Amino acid sequence: MTPKTPIEVTAQPLATAGQPQLLVISCPHCGATHRHLTAGERHAPCGAKYTVVAPREEQP
Ligand SMILES: [Zn+2]
Repeated sequence: MTPKTPIEVTAQPLATAGQPQLLVISCPHCGATHRHLTAGERHAPCGAKYTVVAPREEQP
């Protein structure tokens, strides 16, 4: 039985000159680092499917 809820991975915030990005340091599928622009349910380049969880939201 495959659970419908994707794996949750906590991302590290990456401050860039432009749009802030989220770094998934260790992909649960391939172990590599993937970059995402937003949190939520994402598909990794390796084909993994997981939910990116941001460690915190920066409030202006
Ligand atoms: Zn991966």
